[in-house]
Amino acid sequence: MSEAFHAEPFRIKVVEPVRRTTREERARLVQEAGYNLFHVPSEAVYVDLLTDSGTGAMSDRQWAGLMLGDEAYAGSRNFRHLEDTVRRLLGFEHVIPTHQGRGAEHVLFSAVLREGQYVLNNMHFDTTRAHVQYRKCVPLDLAIAEAYNPTSSHPFKGNFDLDRLEAALAAHGDKVALVLATVTCNTGGGQPVSLDNLERTSAIAARHGVPFFLDACRFAENAFFIQEREPGWAGRPLGEIVRAMMDCAAGCTMSGKKDALVNIGGFLALRDPEVYRQAMVWAVLFEGFPTYGGLAGRDLEAMARGLEEVVDDDYLRYRVGQVRRLAGLLLEAGVPIMEPPGGHAVYLDVRRFLPHLDQDQLPGQSLAVELYLEGGVRGVEIGTVLAGRDPATGENYYPRLELVRLAIPRRVYTDRHLDWVAQTVCRVHERRGDIKGLAFDYEPPVLRHFTATFRPLA
Ligand SMILES: *Cc1c(COP(=O)(O)O)cnc(C)c1O
Repeated sequence: MSEAFHAEPFRIKVVEPVRRTTREERARLVQEAGYNLFHVPSEAVYVDLLTDSGTGAMSDRQWAGLMLGDEAYAGSRNFRHLEDTVRRLLGFEHVIPTHQGRGAEHVLFSAVLREGQYVLNNMHFDTTRAHVQYRKCVPLDLAIAEAYNPTSSHPFKGNFDLDRLEAALAAHGDKVALVLATVTCNTGGGQPVSLDNLERTSAIAARHGVPFFLDACRFAENAFFIQEREPGWAGRPLGEIVRAMMDCAAGCTMSGKKDALVNIGGFLALRDPEVYRQAMVWAVLFEGFPTYGGLAGRDLEAMARGLEEVVDDDYLRYRVGQVRRLAGLLLEAGVPIMEPPGGHAVYLDVRRFLPHLDQDQLPGQSLAVELYLEGGVRGVEIGTVLAGRDPATGENYYPRLELVRLAIPRRVYTDRHLDWVAQTVCRVHERRGDIKGLAFDYEPPVLRHFTATFRPLA
């Protein structure tokens, strides 16, 4: 317990004031935003848990690195620092920087996906799914059944269901372009994948001649869980665990906005020189020359330094411990959450929170709006709105889990901010029976959660 709830392994050198708003102000703002919290101005948010992506605080060492940016079009020293760091830490020979994670997806999929093919994932992240569908390919989610049970305490709920993986490979044969493991499994609640499962998944993919990649956004948090929970790996050095994870894969897509501790950036890392050559062509077209990939030299430097900082026992124990502490406060108060909590976020289990609403009443979106109204806390719906519609039938996908995600930015909020979050959630929980639901006012055809607007149901 005391180990898990470590105090911060840093002290605060710069502060950014945040403003409290009144409930009346928030009611007006959220109405103007069409009940879509993506449209609320961030100055009107007290604790912003919309995402942990690009919202972290950089270290003094990273900020110092910004001054060492080499803004050459080609061959900048910061690129070489990034390349060296990726080689040393992750073991991939070839690195293509991209403006963020989805840029890496775009470049990789351009090189390896053809119309009509399949991508097998434990659970696709939303941009990954959209990129697969955009290429008229089929994304299949193959996580274990426990991933969909919010009260299962399975230690690795992000694991692939290996039987379903085998079955999908047998059924779709040479139409499978890629097996992709998302670590940690964001859509499934930030749940880790075990090393054993990664190794087996990799071996199965290899047996079918299909390349195996990692969506590595939260690789360090995943390694921490392996260190904490996996027999045979418990207590081993994080760097060794990270390397063992990467050794399973032919490459990875990475959003630097997560575990590279930067506000913008990403990369594609590859082993195979031929895939690298193909990917470079698309990188030039979509992202920029392959030694800058849509980033400034200074951004590459900050990302290299962030990667060096993230694989650290004290940092990860604090990071995962802070998430776990918030989860503990909510559980003590009887608030239903996804258990066990994942690495970067606490997920409210909306079906149990608002059992009186059905999915067409968009209960996750409704709960996210109520948290903002109550305490200026911004979370995000991971449920019916996010899931979108089946492009073939036009029907809503009804996700098996309806969640509100409270994602914790890295090194930004103190535990007292999170006490406020817990209090806000508990107050809404006390009056949950009065929450009425929302309906779509405007619904865009793809990635609807970003731009949709809603109206309250009477
Ligand atoms: C954030 C994220 C991405 C996309 O990265 P961006 O930097 O937001 O483009 C892909 N996969 C997962 C699992 C993510 O969390």
